[in-house]
Amino acid sequence: MNRTSIVISSLSAVLLTTAALAQAPSSEIDAHIAAAKAAAGQEYRGTFVNLCLPAAPRGGGPGRAAGPGGAAAPARGAAGAPQAPDRANWYAPPYKVFDNLYWLGTRQHSSWALQTSAGIILIDTNFAWATEPEIIDGMTKLGLNPSDIKYVIISHAHGDHDQGAAELQKRYGAQVVMGAPDWEATLKRPETAPGGVPKQNIVVGPEGHKLTLGDTTMQIVSTPGHTPGTLSYVFPVKDQGRPIMVAYSDGTLTGAFGADAARWDEYIASQQRIARAAAELGATVLLSNHSEYDGAYTKARLVGVPRQPGEQHPFLTSTEGVQRYFTVMTECAMASKLRNGAK
Ligand SMILES: [Zn+2]
Repeated sequence: MNRTSIVISSLSAVLLTTAALAQAPSSEIDAHIAAAKAAAGQEYRGTFVNLCLPAAPRGGGPGRAAGPGGAAAPARGAAGAPQAPDRANWYAPPYKVFDNLYWLGTRQHSSWALQTSAGIILIDTNFAWATEPEIIDGMTKLGLNPSDIKYVIISHAHGDHDQGAAELQKRYGAQVVMGAPDWEATLKRPETAPGGVPKQNIVVGPEGHKLTLGDTTMQIVSTPGHTPGTLSYVFPVKDQGRPIMVAYSDGTLTGAFGADAARWDEYIASQQRIARAAAELGATVLLSNHSEYDGAYTKARLVGVPRQPGEQHPFLTSTEGVQRYFTVMTECAMASKLRNGAK
């Protein structure tokens, strides 16, 4: 071996060692992906693909929010009001999904109205341009009165979920509920931010919160990770009079975590926390706030098709089915953490 080849071979040894250190053996990553895929089955394919498989760069589709406040929010109109993208790409009609739960989403994002005996809890608000056509008109079409909105719960402070909050607060006097760190971020926004800035009402800390309105109590669980103040929920609904518990999982995407190990760990711990709450309360329905991943739009349309006696509700799974969703979230996060070289 001459001198040059010795140098080259030791150099490649160094490179190999560095590569091995930077990334865990692919077998370990593959094991997490296999566990997530098995847990996903047919039910959670969308979530599995979006969370477990490295993302290809994609353009800003209709109303895709890339960052806080919706970095990829649409262009503004002449009056400074956010201009809606082409309606043909996002509009979805509203649907009554359970006896007391109504879907008011677009094809990409979900908003929900939960009717209680003392008014309505609105869950997530979508972009500002969707407030009127989807939430206000949607409620009216379904025979609900938007003036009955008592609480607006924001699962996290990104534009695709929170831009309607200020308007609903102003018009109907609804109390806005958000995680403490997300309130902090929201209150720093300029007044000219799309949809405006809501006034601070109910602040949820790391210990979570029990929100009761009339006959309905919602368990709010703090699930930081996607944002520091992300919230998830467990709450009861009724299907043809039969009580059913729903787990609402928020803060799905992990694309911005990179090699930040603490953030991956916080996200994984959050998934385990909401999974525990869902198990304790016996949740058999899983909702998220991205209709493009959880198929909420398709399922909501299916609800309108008459069911045969004994046929189950399109959103219903089982306690085990709900837990499998959180297994997908956790295993994909473990795989992505290793793939990103986070230690
Ligand atoms: Zn987000």
